[in-house]
Amino acid sequence: MVSLRPCKKGHTQGRYKDGKCRVCVLERVKVYAAANRNKVRRYKAEWAKKNPLKVQASRLANKDKRRASIQAWGARNKDKVRLIKARWKKRNPDAVKAENARRRAKNPEYFRAAVRSWARRHPTYARIKNSIRRAQKLRAMPWWAELEKIAMVYQKAKEWRMNVDHIVPLQHPAVCGLHVWANLQLLSKAENSSKRNRHWPDMPDCENSPKAYAL
Ligand SMILES: [Zn+2]
Repeated sequence: MVSLRPCKKGHTQGRYKDGKCRVCVLERVKVYAAANRNKVRRYKAEWAKKNPLKVQASRLANKDKRRASIQAWGARNKDKVRLIKARWKKRNPDAVKAENARRRAKNPEYFRAAVRSWARRHPTYARIKNSIRRAQKLRAMPWWAELEKIAMVYQKAKEWRMNVDHIVPLQHPAVCGLHVWANLQLLSKAENSSKRNRHWPDMPDCENSPKAYAL
């Protein structure tokens, strides 16, 4: 049975087996920790290194608490968080790309709206881009391009609310696709925004090409 006999300071919350008051010990530990923060941090790190399984178990047991404390720290240190995130992004460009693609696929309407809004705020850039695009299509159109068939594809795209896509892209460091009927396909808007000129049948190996060719 726990003795409720009060200690010198009048605590009655219990004693350890050796008779020391629990509250007093905890208070002394707190005072020591506050005065020796770096030492305590080092002890903890050393202990954690020697007891990885216990660390893992404790993290699992205190998942919500841990997350809340990390979030609270983030709220107090917004500039640091921004810096850490920026640094991480710089070191993990592929993960950033994958995450962006995932978000785009999950919420294509949001991304289209963002692009439209950006274009509205930069009208000159949008005009230049459109004119380049038109010129590219013209240049990519041989004399035998079947204009009626091409027009039909665009008509159907409008009817079905889909995008016209060039299977082999018109604009790519490694190839020049043609603006002809056989190189057109209809994609849903979500599919089109996730494809983004990256893959087509018999695509050359761009991953291992010189950097000038890399996308
Ligand atoms: Zn006490």
